[in-house]
Amino acid sequence: MGDLFGTAVVLDSEFHMTTYARKPVMFVRGKGMRLFDDDGREYLDFVAGIGAVNLGHAHPAVTEAICEQAAKLTHVSNLYHVEHRAELACDLAELLATSAAAAQSWRAGRPAPGPDSSQWRLFFCNSGAEAIEGAIKLARKWGHETRGVDCHRIVTAERSFHGRTLAALAATGQPSKQETFEPLPSGFSHVPLNDLRALEAAVDDRTCAVLLEPVQGEGGIYPCEPEYLEAVRRLCDERGMLLILDEVQTGFYRTGTPFAFEEYGVVPDVVCMAKSLANGLPAGALAARGEAAHVFKPGDHGSTFGGGPLVCAAARATIAALAAEELGRNAAEAGTYLRERLHAFAADTGRVAEVRGVGLMNALEFTEPVAGEVALGGLARGLVLNNIGAHILRILPPLVCGHGEIDTLVEALYELSAP
Ligand code: PLP
Repeated sequence: MGDLFGTAVVLDSEFHMTTYARKPVMFVRGKGMRLFDDDGREYLDFVAGIGAVNLGHAHPAVTEAICEQAAKLTHVSNLYHVEHRAELACDLAELLATSAAAAQSWRAGRPAPGPDSSQWRLFFCNSGAEAIEGAIKLARKWGHETRGVDCHRIVTAERSFHGRTLAALAATGQPSKQETFEPLPSGFSHVPLNDLRALEAAVDDRTCAVLLEPVQGEGGIYPCEPEYLEAVRRLCDERGMLLILDEVQTGFYRTGTPFAFEEYGVVPDVVCMAKSLANGLPAGALAARGEAAHVFKPGDHGSTFGGGPLVCAAARATIAALAAEELGRNAAEAGTYLRERLHAFAADTGRVAEVRGVGLMNALEFTEPVAGEVALGGLARGLVLNNIGAHILRILPPLVCGHGEIDTLVEALYELSAP
């Protein structure tokens, strides 16, 4: 145990609120998929900062962008123009439009008109929860303006996770995370995922939006079924509701494409993003298209730090490197290989209830409550792993993950999960 780690443990217990049960390790350095602790020990990272470091640790292009901008200017507020913010909005509008065009051609079975980035408008904030808060405000204002003051309700999915701030928590479909903080903002209801009838029954004239994760992350990696999301899009169109997709965890090639909606052939009205937007710096964004893009007027919403030049420089470098290194293609290919190996592990051991996932966003659900022990045992063997509850191991590596690292993980799982 290094001195740095020992000091952190003592000070943490004395001065930090105990919102996290931290694992017994301190990471001081990273490179790609590798992390190093304060003793110089090396680990393979299958958590990627909970999906926030898709490019891998200490990517040189992001480091250079941060250093260059930090030496020039870090903050002046949203009252002024700064370098990188408008360019980042343009980059993201283009990325969204590319995914939207691909989704439309996929759905139509023929080439669709080329990407139209002019459809999209962006708002920058600092986190996933803030992006969700912005989306909720946008949807409510849109509902009021198009269908009257009563139109403010939002339907989300059971087991969903949308963040810890109060409205994002009210949107979250996990009573265990909500109960001690009541009363939460009203106007949210939750329906089982992939159950169209339940959703149809839950919406009425007061519903302004449906909010879904394309693949539920914190809930345990549960993808929307393609027919379900397509039907939700249709329902939203028929009933005049906005479709908001929470791509905080699925975005930035995690599932193989820039945004997960592309694979579903469904284009949302509003997209929330954060996590890997700036490869680990605190960044979030809300994007909307069409009429929804023009709902906010000056004074409606804001953020002191959102869209600052430092984070925007990092985000631009991140987005460029993700595309240049074709990490979406790697996420899709490596993810397929990982699931093949996990299925073989399941067949060999009989210890697996289900393997789920898309791209490099995967879960291994054990039949026994061993996921916590597996994650802790992994750490002792140089593997950074994350469990969701007692049964689910979530596998969320940086998108540079290759077959060799996957082999190391799966081979270790045989021993780590042995009775
Ligand atoms: N939405 C989803 C799908 C998430 O996975 C998360 C975080 O895990 C959030 C929202 C909240 O993001 P943040 O922790 O940046 O507020």
